[in-house]
Amino acid sequence: MAGLSLDATQLDRYSRHVIMDEVGPEGQAALLNARVLVVGCGGLGSPVVQYLAAAGVGGLTLADDDAVERSNLQRQVVHADADVGRPKVESAREYVEALNPDVAVDARRTRVERSNAAALVEGHDVVVDASDNFPTRYLLNDACRLTGVPLAHGAIYKFEGQVTTLVPDGPCYRCLFPEAPEPGSIPDCATTGVLGVLPGTVGRYRQQRL
Ligand SMILES: [Zn+2]
Repeated sequence: MAGLSLDATQLDRYSRHVIMDEVGPEGQAALLNARVLVVGCGGLGSPVVQYLAAAGVGGLTLADDDAVERSNLQRQVVHADADVGRPKVESAREYVEALNPDVAVDARRTRVERSNAAALVEGHDVVVDASDNFPTRYLLNDACRLTGVPLAHGAIYKFEGQVTTLVPDGPCYRCLFPEAPEPGSIPDCATTGVLGVLPGTVGRYRQQRL
């Protein structure tokens, strides 16, 4: 019986998953065996990390090279006031470890570059693009194409957002948006502002689609 791969504590923790025919003990075991790379531990990455960890995704790789700033706290809900100045991957890792001991976190304080993108993506079941810039977005798209890993993408602007999942045998991000915008032509949220709850909505919606 597949349920035997979950121990009693896990059957309790994930009981609302396990009870559903669409998930069941097999589905929960698959989540526990899954590895997801989340690129960006900011506004979009925070709710993604929260719900993937709570759902029992057993392997989370977090990639981000930023430190927590006070202006992040209005929406980046895995970081606390005491984390200001600390690496985002460290406060996100501590958040996950406190929430769910089933989750092994690999915290990488790194930026996704041409030189490391494919190696970073490799070995994951899904990649979540929760980054805040176009070079990273295109690099992740290309790395996911090369390695055949599905890419869940989300982006936000002031009061609106977009979410899509790009599977290896379907159209990619470059099919949707062939040309990257000119550097500096799209303002970031430090320039335009962003409604605090918006990345939460976009991030959670994307997590449901994984
Ligand atoms: Zn394409």
